[in-house]
Amino acid sequence: MSSTDDLRARFEGAFGAAPDGVWQAPGRVNLIGEHTDYNEGFVLPFAIDRAARVAVRLRPDSSVRLLSTFGSQGLTTADTGSLDRGTSKGWTRYPLGVLWALQQRGLSVPGLDLLLDSDVPRGAGLSSSHAIECALILALNELTNAGLSPEDMVLATQRAENDFVGAPTGIMDQSASLRGSAGHALFLDCRDRNVRLIPFDAESAGLVMLVIDTRVSHSHAGGGYAARRGSCELGAEVLGVKALRDVDLTDLEEACGLLDPETFRRVRHVVTENDRVLQTVDLLGSSGPRAIGPLLDASHASMRDDFGISCPELDLAVETARSAGAIGARMTGGGFGGSAIALTPVAAEPRVRAAVERAFARAGYTAPDIFSVRTAAGARRVE
Ligand code: ADP
Ligand code: MG
Repeated sequence: MSSTDDLRARFEGAFGAAPDGVWQAPGRVNLIGEHTDYNEGFVLPFAIDRAARVAVRLRPDSSVRLLSTFGSQGLTTADTGSLDRGTSKGWTRYPLGVLWALQQRGLSVPGLDLLLDSDVPRGAGLSSSHAIECALILALNELTNAGLSPEDMVLATQRAENDFVGAPTGIMDQSASLRGSAGHALFLDCRDRNVRLIPFDAESAGLVMLVIDTRVSHSHAGGGYAARRGSCELGAEVLGVKALRDVDLTDLEEACGLLDPETFRRVRHVVTENDRVLQTVDLLGSSGPRAIGPLLDASHASMRDDFGISCPELDLAVETARSAGAIGARMTGGGFGGSAIALTPVAAEPRVRAAVERAFARAGYTAPDIFSVRTAAGARRVE
């Protein structure tokens, strides 16, 4: 990612004046708790040391001019008086969605010039989209004195993704991006939106968190994600609960008799995954990061076998990382592609990387992108 000075200079070159400031928001890795957020359950993501940065200047008129440091897309222009759902494409959907969502809250939104830079891999399940949204909403909150609380910003960015971009996502990604903290994971109860920071310091435990981006592109807007949400809604309805959050492990036997086999497996994933999140929080507190490997493995098996959201590349990444020395591994993110994570002893890192690369080459898959991530601070102003 370019330095803040570079970004300021590029902004001035493109827009002819200095930005009012530069804001940054991280991507996230979900340690555990997949497809539990929209079931009003538990998730445990952490903000990572990869971020989107926006240099922003408010304008006296209603024009919006958007530029990024990547890709071939040149300047995109819009007008705050006519923000149109469905017409914008690519990364500009996210900032425009934020402006739109703020208008939906009744805020008057000024025009602006914006330059985006990001080193969050896109479409890898690390929430490059919310990183953009969170950086901008933080900037606007400050520059317009909108007085939005973190929770307001969480809900506004969800609105942007759901109703402007058309991605039916929950509140996990932006909560991690806005409220994450270095050395911690964020335990989030998606029902009441309470958060608690849980110490998670892999480095001190001699571990490194590897991300294996399979390069299989996922799409939240695609049918699989919507179908899983549909199964969860159906399961909750048949079981007579508000959300699957209200189903316990002990209810599963009875649920088995009430649900068709596929819906039952979907429900079982959500119920057991919620339990694994709670166990992970307990174990991190009592025994530290080295203790959670088996829970990561069990989470992956549940997503593969019960929820049906893995793919051959993710399975290969997870299995290979485990046999090469990772203490736990799972796919992370929405599924159907994207990334796996492998919690790996520092000494085993080269072996794990080499083994996964070799296995992908042997299978004829596109070479994966493997990198390590650390916990990092949440969204903030950097200049
Ligand atoms: P994720 O949020 O998991 O990365 P999404 O599909 O939600 O995946 O968002 C990815 C989209 O975000 C891309 O298709 C692109 O429009 C936009 N985007 C985010 N970061 C970048 C970037 N650095 N370069 C280009 N597009 C980006
Ligand atoms: Mg996204």
